[in-house]
Amino acid sequence: MNLEVRPPLWDTFTNRLIIQGKLVCQTALRIGAGSDPLLPTASDLPILLLNGQPYIPGSSLRGVLRSHLERLVRTLEPSPGGGKGACNPVDKNEWCIKTEDMRELRQSKKDLAFRVWDKSCRICRLFGSPWLASRVRVSDLFCLDENVKPLIRDGVAIDREKEAVRNKFDFEVVPPGTRFRLELLAENLSPDELGLVWLGIRELQEGRIQVGGFKGRGLGFVRLEKVQVHMVDGTDREALKNYITRGEMRLVAPEELERWLESFWNSCGGGKGA
Ligand SMILES: [Zn+2]
Repeated sequence: MNLEVRPPLWDTFTNRLIIQGKLVCQTALRIGAGSDPLLPTASDLPILLLNGQPYIPGSSLRGVLRSHLERLVRTLEPSPGGGKGACNPVDKNEWCIKTEDMRELRQSKKDLAFRVWDKSCRICRLFGSPWLASRVRVSDLFCLDENVKPLIRDGVAIDREKEAVRNKFDFEVVPPGTRFRLELLAENLSPDELGLVWLGIRELQEGRIQVGGFKGRGLGFVRLEKVQVHMVDGTDREALKNYITRGEMRLVAPEELERWLESFWNSCGGGKGA
């Protein structure tokens, strides 16, 4: 086990990244009040509202960002663990640190945080796991438009055994063109992790990530626009002072974003020197 690499812990401050933008619905979007039921009753399925306006929970956007990056990382690094690859968070038997592994790790209390860090996959290190806090947060995305009127779509639930229509139901959607304010905050990321987060943001910019329910019906296509990336480096005393006293952060230039991507690519064996 390599414990010489000190992981970025949460009690120190290395850097803070804030990415802001406008998420624009390209198609109708379905963020339900409650999860989308497979077999809904005859009652309508309303959309999630806050003060009468639709919104997207930050956890829900973070979730789709995570699973999108999981698929990508798995392609590049097939075996998860030790800071590489992506385990399967929805199956307990496929976690990079299973419950029984954790019991074993806890036997020796010394350096537990480092041991957990050491064994965790690339995605769990960034987005968290049952044993590790996430270093990426997404605030709830509030609607930037006023008086958004939900559209009504109708759906059918199929009885899988009889292959017959079991139930017809109405559901609400947010109309195309609706805009939401996105803010992602991440702390203490290494250059390759900055690259991975930026890769996810790029996928949102390109409209490759679907959000919300009924994706199979072509709902939830979004595009991230007007993206701004700000950062503060905790190791730069002057920058840290300006941040703490005045909330100042520097705007990250496109060349630096490119270097982050390069750093991610090199860290997963893509670069010629790896
Ligand atoms: Zn994992």
